[in-house]
Amino acid sequence: MFTEINAAIQASKTALDIIKSNKELLKYNELALAVSEVNAKLLSAQDFASYLLEKNKLLSERIADMEEKMANDEKFDREFSRYKLHSLESGMLVYMIKPEHEEIGEPHYACTACASDGKISFFQPVLNGTRLVCDFCKKNVDTGWKPGAHKTPK
Ligand SMILES: [Zn+2]
Repeated sequence: MFTEINAAIQASKTALDIIKSNKELLKYNELALAVSEVNAKLLSAQDFASYLLEKNKLLSERIADMEEKMANDEKFDREFSRYKLHSLESGMLVYMIKPEHEEIGEPHYACTACASDGKISFFQPVLNGTRLVCDFCKKNVDTGWKPGAHKTPK
């Protein structure tokens, strides 16, 4: 862009020089050519400035998207570190909250399918605790627990 602007400035100097050195008898053709050159170079600088503005806008948007994604990833990592992989009695794998993070009334199990998509979704017990169903993707797993056993987790 600076090259284009410098070229426009240079061309306008040339036009001025022609005007100054021909105060009395203007060489019309030379002057007209020099002025149209200035104009062309200014237009090209203007095009380039618009292109840079557009490019700057796109880059700013991409940076904002990436910052948002990074913040989401960090949030996921922080939450996910509270869970560990756990094998249910049925042999099915789920994520279970680590004992040190357990809170009364909070769901204990998180969905493995959703976790691989970068999302923590909870499993809710259904059919009297014989199955767990994901709140989000509806994946359901066999617990291998006796009916009602989920109410008094070991
Ligand atoms: Zn899920």
